[in-house]
Amino acid sequence: MTDHQQVSIFDADQLAACVQCGFCLSSCPTYETTYLEEHGPRGRILAMRLVEEGELAIDDPDVVDSLETCVQCRACEVVCPSLVEFGSLMETARAAIEEQRPPAGVEARGQQVLFAALRHRWLLRLGTTLLALAQTLRLDRVLPSRLRPARRVRLGDTLRGYRLPPPGAPAQGDAFLFRGCVMDGMFRDVHRATAQVLAAVGHRPRFEPAPPCCGALSAHAGREQEAHALAEATIAAYAGTEGPILVNSAGCGGAMKEYGALLGTDEARAFSERVTDLSELISPEEVAARGAALQLTLAYQAPCHLKNVQGLADQARALIAAIPGLRLLEPDDEQQCCGSGGIYSYLQPAFGDALLARKHGALQRTGAQGVVSGNPGCAMQIAREGWEVHHPAQLLARSLTSEVSDQVSDPSPA
Ligand code: SF4
Ligand code: SF4
Repeated sequence: MTDHQQVSIFDADQLAACVQCGFCLSSCPTYETTYLEEHGPRGRILAMRLVEEGELAIDDPDVVDSLETCVQCRACEVVCPSLVEFGSLMETARAAIEEQRPPAGVEARGQQVLFAALRHRWLLRLGTTLLALAQTLRLDRVLPSRLRPARRVRLGDTLRGYRLPPPGAPAQGDAFLFRGCVMDGMFRDVHRATAQVLAAVGHRPRFEPAPPCCGALSAHAGREQEAHALAEATIAAYAGTEGPILVNSAGCGGAMKEYGALLGTDEARAFSERVTDLSELISPEEVAARGAALQLTLAYQAPCHLKNVQGLADQARALIAAIPGLRLLEPDDEQQCCGSGGIYSYLQPAFGDALLARKHGALQRTGAQGVVSGNPGCAMQIAREGWEVHHPAQLLARSLTSEVSDQVSDPSPA
């Protein structure tokens, strides 16, 4: 785009809703990093307005810098008195940038491989199996540290399928575990623990259907059509089923709860109603009454999309804190993002590293021995600083069942 004629990219009402009050600035992790207006929500909305008014092009380097450095944590959205839907504005911005200035060179090839893997389960499976093999043989050390996943993937985990629990008559009926892409590739141990928890509270965990990806990463990267297609495929996969769709990745859960807004159909809205976090399925009272003691002192890292999109951080925190014996500590920067942001930490390493360094300091100040967080991106980002990061489902499984790993599994290898 070279001429600066008036364009219509953004929702004009949303842009007009911002009264430039600045209440959002202190909750923005990128603004708190540089203290530059263009790296905060107010400056970003101003950049969108200037694009809309034809003063600047969407691919102007300053506009791109302002908009692409947003980690899309949506902390600004929950504090905005004017209820500006910043997440939606930013997804629109990313799609417009992607259209006008698609990634090139190594970045383009990297994204092509990544997003192809998210769409095709066999490719993701192959990739994670090779990663597990490389980690076992320590060949991953040839990768630059920034590209080396901090999470150890075990070959046994990637190769082994899931098995259904012993037949019974669960009081609560079926609960469909959304396997997703990264979670199914690298966090199968968390899925097994989640299934154990579901079985322990009376649900029959189901591992099928297994649509490939919720589309959240595509939406954040501006790949709008792909995000829509993945959302539609996910909804279609669960057609004809009934019961909660349990999502143990906060980012996926946030995206899937917004399918109704994304696609604007009754079917999508009904689907979003079924999307459920563990903290909506189990009460702290049940855990406190039935759980075995875990003598652990952990810091809670609330995933941004659990807190700012799903509004469930307090509920999730209460559920974990209810585990007998477990001491749950709060970092003093509780509201700030860890800098993961899907693939943000790879695309914006300077900001990603700065946000992680701040989070690491806050976690250290708690004195905790480990961290608990229910999002794969947060888990891998925080593990880069050497932290052991537990998923809430793993802690609940250890507390609510005596065997941790293999009692709930299923014959399907895929
Ligand atoms: S986004 Fe909301 S909080 Fe931030 S400046 Fe605009 S109106 Fe104020
Ligand atoms: S989404 Fe997060 S990083 Fe982006 S402007 Fe809002 S608070 Fe800042």
